[in-house]
Amino acid sequence: MKTYKIALIKGDGIGPEIIDEAVKVLDSVASCFDFDFEYEEALMGGCAYDITGDPLPQETINISLNSDAVLFGAIGGQKWDNLPREKRPESGLLRFRKELGVYANLRPAIVYDELINASSLKPEVIKGVDLMVVRELIGGIYFGEPKGRDENKGWNTMVYTREEIVRIAHQAFKIAMTRSKRVCSIDKANVLDVSQLWREVVTEVAREYPEVELSHMYVDNAAMQLIRDPRQFDVMLTGNIFGDILSDEASMLSGSIGLLPSASVGAKIGVYEPIHGSAPDIAGQGIANPIATILSASMMLRYALGENDAADKIDTAVKRALKEGYRTKDIAQYDAKEVCSTSEMGSIIANYAAK
Ligand code: NAD
Repeated sequence: MKTYKIALIKGDGIGPEIIDEAVKVLDSVASCFDFDFEYEEALMGGCAYDITGDPLPQETINISLNSDAVLFGAIGGQKWDNLPREKRPESGLLRFRKELGVYANLRPAIVYDELINASSLKPEVIKGVDLMVVRELIGGIYFGEPKGRDENKGWNTMVYTREEIVRIAHQAFKIAMTRSKRVCSIDKANVLDVSQLWREVVTEVAREYPEVELSHMYVDNAAMQLIRDPRQFDVMLTGNIFGDILSDEASMLSGSIGLLPSASVGAKIGVYEPIHGSAPDIAGQGIANPIATILSASMMLRYALGENDAADKIDTAVKRALKEGYRTKDIAQYDAKEVCSTSEMGSIIANYAAK
């Protein structure tokens, strides 16, 4: 029997509630296979600041580096909004990703038939959407030098090295190999030198994946195409700032923030987390939707542990729960047969995942 070590970072707000449900589902699916989990909890965010004075204690980094993967809830809340920037929960998370070296952010956007009316787009445009944004996470204009400002001028620099482009491109092509084998690389090569290098290097890397069809698109067109005809995309490969914007746009195709998982990978240890925040407005009420976190746990099984069959079981269990009309409050207006609490939804999915 194999035992996987998972670092659990529950965080603030609804974080503990949704992580508990993901753990329930993980344990349930593990019972069908020849592996189990050993969890170690670590602090991050406001709760870590309250106890240690640091939103990212060194112990959390150590526990994470000593695990097979990190499952993360969410951090932040008004209580900590007025702290100096380096003490704020969000600074802890940015530092955490950098410390772990996770350079690739994967964000799937899937439209479930049962929730097709949750999107602001027409059903005939979004039915069947299943795409993945692969965003470079720790380079590009957010980190490039020189940067600065004076009273009358502000400046940032978009820099990508060949090495940075090569490694994110490999991530995208490898993921495409497990999907519909299509990569669309997004850049602004008609204007930016950095994008010309990006396009050149992505094209070179593509030669190592002859089965994958590569196309290129300018970012302004991609923003438009995502709304006009999102089904044309399988894997969208982008740099940091373009990916930041496009992945938020793509996430709204499905209409509900409580459904969308993500993974930050590339280094030895990956971080798996819902795309939403700590939702302080509903924390402690037992109404948060745990599905985004449960699907993040499924991504963890797939991308960190290679347990694809177990991941498939979770994905199928989520679809079945939605198909049978179970809804948490945030999606209750879309054909609910039964409105359930956070923990009821977790139990239903855990039960289906064990079958
Ligand atoms: P948010 O994502 O926490 O909430 C936005 C809205 O969506 C709220 O109305 C909330 O109730 C709802 N919502 C979010 N997740 C839900 C779920 N699982 N089920 C049902 N409803 C859900 O964003 P926000 O309100 O802008 O931020 C709140 C705090 O979270 C802030 O401190 C922010 O900095 C932090 N934040 C953290 C992360 C992270 O930990 N990765 C990401 C974004 C925001």
